[in-house]
Amino acid sequence: MKTIGIVGAGQMGCGIALVCATAGLDVTLNDVDAQAAKRGINSISGNLARMVSKGKMTSDEATAALGRIRAGGVLAELIESDLVIEAATENIQIKEDILRNLDAIVRPGSVIATNTSSVSVTRLGSMLGDPGRFIGMHFFNPVPVMALVEVIRGLRTSDATVDATVAFTKRIGKQPICVSNSPGFVVNRILVPMINEAIFVLQQGLASAEEIDEGMKLGANHPIGPLALADLIGLDTTLAIMNVLYADFSDSKYRPASLLKEMVDAGYLGRKSGRGFFTY
Ligand code: NAD
Repeated sequence: MKTIGIVGAGQMGCGIALVCATAGLDVTLNDVDAQAAKRGINSISGNLARMVSKGKMTSDEATAALGRIRAGGVLAELIESDLVIEAATENIQIKEDILRNLDAIVRPGSVIATNTSSVSVTRLGSMLGDPGRFIGMHFFNPVPVMALVEVIRGLRTSDATVDATVAFTKRIGKQPICVSNSPGFVVNRILVPMINEAIFVLQQGLASAEEIDEGMKLGANHPIGPLALADLIGLDTTLAIMNVLYADFSDSKYRPASLLKEMVDAGYLGRKSGRGFFTY
């Protein structure tokens, strides 16, 4: 896998593009919003400059990596890709539409992956003529820093696709864990209800946002508090994940906190909008 297509130039798509390009791969970064793709390249450029200033790479390496990424606004530009990673907004309808379109464009034999945080990989795979070539590749935020990729096998994912995806994950310097498809997979099924519980605690006025986060950092040894983590993930994405867990398990223990819904309705989406539980 040498030529990589990425659909969605948000925080995850850009992070994945950066990691692939620094591993020497050619990347086309697609977004339905042409401005988002351009902003994406700018943010990748800023990230690479920071990595140079921290001594993690030379400026020649950063320039070469940036040169391997091109921004695009048309899915047909992904025709030559050996692997396409869908990293668009966490919305089933949007993802299904993208995958139906990709199926017609990306040549047979190429792998199509989704970075979804919660949507069923089996369901998304059934948008393709050959669901065997579809798989979940769940990266973590921020992608350049976080080592893990959950490799999620849908019911119809082929062994060859699993093997190729595991090898690719290692090739870009990440650590894969292989899991079976289930709502929220493994990490988010544990992590996001914990974040949701922190929002319930805030909503019930038991402690301030600062105190809740301080409590979990000092008391549970978490490197970042759950509310700051929600802001980093994006409150819209956090809500979307809780909604999937709630709907797919039909279990009230996964109901999203009403304060989370209020924040999203208000446009307070966390870091990406400048305000969430904290201000940026
Ligand atoms: P984001 O809101 O930062 O970016 C989403 C991007 O998708 C936007 O630029 C938007 O314009 C683009 N988009 C929307 N519809 C599109 C379409 N039809 N074609 C092409 N691009 C389209 O979101 P994000 O945080 O980068 O999340 C992207 C995906 O990664 C989601 O599925 C999310 O659940 C998953 N994910 C997020 C995190 C996280 O911490 N934020 C972690 C792991 C996985």
